[in-house]
Amino acid sequence: MVSYVFPPPPVAALPIKGSDALFPLRRIFCVGRNYAEHAIEMGSDPTREPPFYFTKPADSVVINGADMPYPSVTKSLHHEMELVVAIGRGGRNIAVADALSHVWGYCAGLDMTRRDIQNEAKKTGRPWDMGKGFDKSAPMGLLVPAASVNPAKGKIELKVNGKVTQTSDLSKLIWSVPEVIANLSELVELAPGDLIMTGTPEGVAAVVRGDVLEGFVEGVGDIRTKII
Ligand code: MN
Repeated sequence: MVSYVFPPPPVAALPIKGSDALFPLRRIFCVGRNYAEHAIEMGSDPTREPPFYFTKPADSVVINGADMPYPSVTKSLHHEMELVVAIGRGGRNIAVADALSHVWGYCAGLDMTRRDIQNEAKKTGRPWDMGKGFDKSAPMGLLVPAASVNPAKGKIELKVNGKVTQTSDLSKLIWSVPEVIANLSELVELAPGDLIMTGTPEGVAAVVRGDVLEGFVEGVGDIRTKII
């Protein structure tokens, strides 16, 4: 029997809509620049460059409805509203045609970003980790099973204090969900419990303490958090 020098951390997990069971989390992968209009607003060329990835720790998840504390060491906390894919069956070198069969479900999520730290990292060629993968940087909605979702189209929207800041459609993803799964599975062996945040549309902006963020992805569900 294994003995640990201190109690191992609890398993990070997401609640599932209409179920008492939890979805245990392994890793969170995030796609950079996957909507053309957002690439343009960030000063990039939206041509179909290969997708690229960064990560957040599994325990950076904030459960739907819970508050998100404003993080340290930033003056520019940005929201990024995203469709999130939850992998239920792992694999490497997954074919595009098989990719959706590896998906357990989907949720709406927020890739919260310390934009000032990320911009400094871009300028200096340093890693994005502290701009993206900080504590409680990933508020997530309830998971819904894949069978009920068509990830190829549907409105994606975020309101801050009741006012729409981001609105687009999943059909505008530069790299579709099956293409992202196939590409990522060439770089790492995907495993059950992995999440993939698929990228944000245009309209990212800074939030402050007291702001209420309410997002939804058509056919998937909602995400709500308050910045405190
Ligand atoms: Mn993002």
